[in-house]
Amino acid sequence: MSNDFLSRRKFFSRGGSVIAASTMLPLGASEGDTRPQEHEMNEGDDYYSKLNLRPFINAAGTYTYLTASIMPPEVRADVNRAALSPVNLIDLQKAAGEYLAKKLHCEAALVSDGAASAMTLSTAACITRGRQRAIVNVPSDMCDLPNEVLIQKAHRYEYDHAIRCCGVKMVEVETLEDYDRAFNPRTAMAHFFNAAQGGQISREDWVGIAHKHGVPASNDAAADVPPKSRLWEYTQMGFDLVQFSGGKGLRGPQNSGLLLGRKDLVEAAAMNNNPYSDTVGRGMKVSKEQIIGLVAAVDWFLDQGETEMRGEFQKRAELIAAAVEKIPSVKAQIFVPPVANNVPHLLITYDMTRLKISAKDVQAELLQGTPSIALNPATGSENGGLMKGVVPGPNGIVVGVWMMQPGEDSIVARRLHEVLSKAGVA
Ligand SMILES: *Cc1c(COP(=O)(O)O)cnc(C)c1O
Repeated sequence: MSNDFLSRRKFFSRGGSVIAASTMLPLGASEGDTRPQEHEMNEGDDYYSKLNLRPFINAAGTYTYLTASIMPPEVRADVNRAALSPVNLIDLQKAAGEYLAKKLHCEAALVSDGAASAMTLSTAACITRGRQRAIVNVPSDMCDLPNEVLIQKAHRYEYDHAIRCCGVKMVEVETLEDYDRAFNPRTAMAHFFNAAQGGQISREDWVGIAHKHGVPASNDAAADVPPKSRLWEYTQMGFDLVQFSGGKGLRGPQNSGLLLGRKDLVEAAAMNNNPYSDTVGRGMKVSKEQIIGLVAAVDWFLDQGETEMRGEFQKRAELIAAAVEKIPSVKAQIFVPPVANNVPHLLITYDMTRLKISAKDVQAELLQGTPSIALNPATGSENGGLMKGVVPGPNGIVVGVWMMQPGEDSIVARRLHEVLSKAGVA
């Protein structure tokens, strides 16, 4: 393991105190509990089994391809109730936005079809603000419209496709001087990637210079809650448009997202959104179930005890660490990624001359086993992949504990112990 990795990691002592779950919760439950309620288990048909799919224990985290998160029981109940009755969709979007803006201390809010859709709608809003008739021209007839989006070179990422689908081109800048000089009448928006590891320009400077040129500044903070305070930190810093995923840390419907920001821009975003048909956002429909699901999830999330939740994740990581460290050469370290997925995770490493198995093979064995367990996708990777700032290597297993259900930590601990100890050479 490289020193670079060690120096950047924020290790937590595993002897630290564990905070007891809030007394507000029913007996046996803990913060972040999303387990099925008894009555829910008997409602509806088991379509996963009809489709021959095997659900797994999520020991990975909020990854889109693993369906990210489970809605809490209260939120599931609120969605079911809303699903019983039709309402006017535009009225619902507006009322939900006003409710959320108040809770999240910003001027305006919109429930979008995921953070990526919120980025598309943000871009469309910046292109068409003050020229509503241009909405129909995005993305194919852009000749008279602002069509450049500024971004730091180190912030380029796969998600900028959600911006480019508005017919704009990304203009890369590196230094503050580059950035200042890059503004011109065709500049639509200045976009920041909140969890980026590189880049010379700070959030404050990004906003300040954009405003000097009268251009809106946007910030993709999709995977960056908890902590709760991030939900208002960036709008209060001056970002005009901020995007969060609704189905990651917030535990709303997977296909929901939050667009927060300035009133005129959020209104312009809504005009580019469904249900209006001649818009770039028409294919990103947000149903009443998604909208109510996200509003209810935000309420749920704001009600959670932050320290208690973190304590619960820490406790799960410690339990797994204690089990695997009984095996010769196995070391376990709890780390907290700096911006995205900012909760305790576990890195397990071992001597591959003592345990004859690669981390990727452990991952495959856990996924194929019973119950099936999905480990974090950074497991066994040379560069951490999707997990920022961790370099596990071929003998590094990464466990994300925050999307587990209570009790699943001991199952994961037992399976990891079984698979690793079986690989030991005598
Ligand atoms: C997950 C993610 C997105 C997309 O969010 P969705 O809600 O799935 O659309 C965008 N940006 C970043 C940095 C993300 O992590």
